[in-house]
Amino acid sequence: MGGTEQARAAAVIGAGPSGFYVTERLLSAGFRVDLFDRLPTPFGLVRAGVAPDHPKIKSVTRAFDKIAAQPGFRFIGGAELGNHYAVGELRRRYHAIVYAVGMDVDRELGVPGESLRGSVGAAEFVGWYNGHPDFADHRFDLSCSRAVVVGNGNVALDVARMLVLAPEELAATDTADHALEQFARARVCDVVVLGRRGPLQASFTTPELRELGDLRRAEIVVDAGSTEIPVNDSSDPTRARNLTVLREFAARKPRGKSHRVELRFLSSPVEVIGDGRHVRGVRVARNRLDGARAVPTGEHEVIDCGLVVRAIGYRGRPLPGVSFDAARSRISNCNGRVTTAGGQPIVGEYAVGWIKRGPSGVIGTNKKDATDTSERVLEDVDAGVLDRPDIDADPVATMQWLRTRVPTIVTWDGWTNIDRHERSAGAESGRPRVKLVRREAMLALSPSGGAP
Ligand code: NAP
Repeated sequence: MGGTEQARAAAVIGAGPSGFYVTERLLSAGFRVDLFDRLPTPFGLVRAGVAPDHPKIKSVTRAFDKIAAQPGFRFIGGAELGNHYAVGELRRRYHAIVYAVGMDVDRELGVPGESLRGSVGAAEFVGWYNGHPDFADHRFDLSCSRAVVVGNGNVALDVARMLVLAPEELAATDTADHALEQFARARVCDVVVLGRRGPLQASFTTPELRELGDLRRAEIVVDAGSTEIPVNDSSDPTRARNLTVLREFAARKPRGKSHRVELRFLSSPVEVIGDGRHVRGVRVARNRLDGARAVPTGEHEVIDCGLVVRAIGYRGRPLPGVSFDAARSRISNCNGRVTTAGGQPIVGEYAVGWIKRGPSGVIGTNKKDATDTSERVLEDVDAGVLDRPDIDADPVATMQWLRTRVPTIVTWDGWTNIDRHERSAGAESGRPRVKLVRREAMLALSPSGGAP
């Protein structure tokens, strides 16, 4: 412990759900925790990923606020690993470093035409409507009548819903103002969601799927033929429940709504078609199932559209100085202990959440994951390997050093000011908050006032 009586110190990199859950475990084990985020704001995908029309899911931040109120907690917002500080510098000041950075790169389809204008990834589109500062200046052409969303997971459903929600439904949410304006002018009235396999292989969760049947201005359309498949006792219960919901959708009569969302199965995009610059359609190969595997039948069709959103999962990006498994696009780790490429544990470095296990599960899944990773940390405490003699974990000295690197650090008090400002702006228009989307505007509200 560097010869002092101070608590052991941990740096948690990434203030999303996994970062908060692991922080909670480490605080209760007697660590002091500095929770870093490259953005001036905390909460990761709860702020920038969860759909604006799902406010209940966002209420998990109340639990995170309680964690932040515990002694020993500090938020270090607006400081980025590799840009403002290096892993080696953290290793001299913290007994443990836990990477909780998630995954934010869209996977690619790997088909021709994918990079045409109008063909976008869900991370970009979702980040844009949720006011993530990195996407605030992006523009999407929503003047087409049909959009295709590729993928059969919950992100695909979020995107499909957002494209057909009525302006008055969106107006009551914390959708970023720039997106509200564009959605209000959008002409998209038909959204086709493509699954490469069948209904029983889709990874939607049932409440999210069921919600598509209750959209105010959009019909849900499912071809009855695609749901005529046997369900046996060994079928996954969620997937069997999904099939029941899909059968109910397929049996519906049109209700005369202005918009539609169609779920089309056994369809793989093989080419994004354009006019040289912009998307004009998607060529789709029809599949059949061989067990749970999609096999092309040789039939093709073209779906005309002006927007293609890939929601086919995320990849992690390597962090400077951190061991990375490029093949699996996540931090090299063994049950949460970061390892070298050869599988040897790197003492004092850990991973948690999506960057540890891949982009799966709901928010609560990360709680168990964080418990597992914190157990690795505590095993290493017990084994005495974390108390390296060269560590100087003095919290005041650490903060002074950080401020030399990032004079505009946003502390928890700074975030509280931003939060209060956003909520009071929202209260004026009956919204939960009006998000600030520019870093400078956020920094101006933090105690440092954004000034170095
Ligand atoms: P996901 O659930 O893994 O779904 C990805 C989808 O993309 C799968 O249907 C997959 O099909 C398909 N896909 C992958 N590669 C493809 C390709 N080359 N061509 C066509 N389709 C392809 O991922 P996600 O939707 O990004 O969600 C990530 C996690 O966040 C999930 O655990 C999700 O439940 C969670 N989430 C939850 C909520 C919520 O609770 N409301 C909201 C959003 C996200 P195959 O199965 O055939 O590979």
